[in-house]
Amino acid sequence: MDLGLTGRVALVTGSSRGLGLAVAEELAAEGCDVVLAARSADVLSEEAARIERETGRRALAVPTDLASQESVQGLLDSALGEFGTVDVLVTNAGGPPVGTFQEHAPQAWTDAVKLTLGSVLDLTRGVLPGMKDRAWGRIINITSIAVKQPVDGLILSNSIRAAVTGFARTLANEVAPFGITVNNALPGYTWTQRVRELAATAAAAGGVSPAEVVKGWEATIPVGRLAEPPEFAALVAFLASERASYITGASVAVDGGCVKS
Ligand code: NAD
Repeated sequence: MDLGLTGRVALVTGSSRGLGLAVAEELAAEGCDVVLAARSADVLSEEAARIERETGRRALAVPTDLASQESVQGLLDSALGEFGTVDVLVTNAGGPPVGTFQEHAPQAWTDAVKLTLGSVLDLTRGVLPGMKDRAWGRIINITSIAVKQPVDGLILSNSIRAAVTGFARTLANEVAPFGITVNNALPGYTWTQRVRELAATAAAAGGVSPAEVVKGWEATIPVGRLAEPPEFAALVAFLASERASYITGASVAVDGGCVKS
């Protein structure tokens, strides 16, 4: 299937590793020039150079702290300065810290809102005018299956990603007349650094091994295993594509059947 992405420009945040990096790789493989953003300048530059080598597309690395509005503005300026356009925006960042309601101080909520919701708003605000001018755009937010079925111990993620979902569903209605679609891609348990860390934390708390924690997760997944990042990235590439022109306002899970709704 030709996704019609050749020559499009995609900005993918949180893309030095994990799901964001897999999405940037997939979009470049489908013909997009990509802008990568994360805090770690060295890793980001290495990954951008590798993507250029492997795909022959351009990859721009822009060190960015998504929790800072100034830094996000710098990212937008660099992306638009280099390519003149952002056709596809994929919002993503590190997940909020683990913990129960009683364990989180008020500041943790402020920080999580800033990163998980604020960065989505700032990035969207920056790319929308250009998308409207060109009457074409794709906005895809990486959220979580937590928006369909809360994950125990992740109260910050469960709560704030619901706000991102409401924002995206409303924005989808507002920008549909301009040829812009807005969707959310919901990862289930997927093998990344973040998930290895979650397994280690849960193992330490429960006095079991990380492998036993993972086994417990697998028991809740009909497919019987965790996903690999490219399996998730494939959905994002499709939502970004020309072929997905009639899909908007959707929240689509890649979870091996984990959510029971
Ligand atoms: P990850 O921690 O492996 O990668 C996160 C990326 O975001 C990294 O590139 C990191 O450098 C970057 N990042 C973090 N904070 C940043 C900041 N302030 N500014 C700029 N960049 C920043 O996470 P992942 O597993 O790839 O997951 C991506 C998102 O999907 C997370 O929000 C996570 O909570 C969510 N999610 C993941 C899974 C999973 O199983 N992997 C499941 C559900 C939801």
